[in-house]
Amino acid sequence: MIDITERAASIEGDVIAWRRRFHSNPELSRRETATGEAVRAELLKRGIISERIRGSESFFALLKGAKPGPAKILRADMDALPITESGEREYKSRRDGVMHACGHDAHTAMLMGAAAVLSECRDELRGTAVFCFQSAEEVNEGAAELINVLKERDLDIALAAGLHIWSQIPAGEIKILEGLAMAGLYAFRITLTGSGGHGSRPDRSIDPIKPLCELALKLSALPASLISPLETAVVHICHIEGGTAPNVFPDSAYLEGGIRFYRPEHREVLLDAIHKAARALSDQWGLKVKIEDLAALHPVNNDKGAVSLARDAAARVPGLELSASSAPLLASDNMSLFLEKYPGVYAFLGCGNADKGITAEHHNSWFDIDESVMRLGVEYLCRLAI
Ligand SMILES: [Zn+2]
Ligand SMILES: [Zn+2]
Repeated sequence: MIDITERAASIEGDVIAWRRRFHSNPELSRRETATGEAVRAELLKRGIISERIRGSESFFALLKGAKPGPAKILRADMDALPITESGEREYKSRRDGVMHACGHDAHTAMLMGAAAVLSECRDELRGTAVFCFQSAEEVNEGAAELINVLKERDLDIALAAGLHIWSQIPAGEIKILEGLAMAGLYAFRITLTGSGGHGSRPDRSIDPIKPLCELALKLSALPASLISPLETAVVHICHIEGGTAPNVFPDSAYLEGGIRFYRPEHREVLLDAIHKAARALSDQWGLKVKIEDLAALHPVNNDKGAVSLARDAAARVPGLELSASSAPLLASDNMSLFLEKYPGVYAFLGCGNADKGITAEHHNSWFDIDESVMRLGVEYLCRLAI
């Protein structure tokens, strides 16, 4: 019998080194070329052959165990975000404006670690481990093509599992929620078009900037008026753009944002109100309005049976405790596509550590993780797969 705890501990140095390499050389969504190449080379060293998906940076690899059993998907995402990293760390991003601020570098490294350990445990592995390395999660892409290609294979997939690092959960804890685990997302862009002109004569222009600012404030406040205070939904505006100079009214300007919701009816109510608010403002100011869908994801729902397997796996990892918190996350993730297709579980591995000053939120320029938890993540993934 291979001692998985010991094997996961012995590969910890490699896992940390891989994570730091990815952290220093982050790649944006759909452009994870060097990251993918590095992963595939490491897998190949262990006799694991990857399969590329045409037209995508997503890829997967199969590891067949000696014992009969179903296939189990282990999924990690690989992309970074358009953020300039703050702080001075030896592994700080070397690319201005690109940063692993969500921990996908750690996800990739942990899955590589799990693949390496499991490649030594083929005799004990029941069925097939399917390692999925997903591109472009941050732009809500990269999952569908993996699911489509796997569907065509003769694989009896019984489980899809993902593990997201989470900085607002203390290191040493893992959150595995039954049912609702993360919010759904509807992302949108609203463009207001008027007619530009000289900054000194707003009366002779139809300026889209002021109404757009008003709209951003109005939309952000919608949940307070429309959603029960006992429930949760968010409208966030995170990108606003328009204009080229301090003295030129532009013809048009736009904002981008999203709705986060746990219940589909909340999305409907908020979406309707967003349309109404945008139309009312543009009518008032004589602007044209264009509303575009950017993305739509259902909430992440964990399967009861998969949760029970995951909690069993976590219980066998020394140093890992189940989180006592039962609150789902308000972030979204297209792991939901896997969980709509297969029974599965998306768990959150705590990586926050106030003593080490690791407290920054995800998508913040100071984001970091307590790297000591990656060993726990590797072991959890192995125990879930085996
Ligand atoms: Zn993210
Ligand atoms: Zn993420």
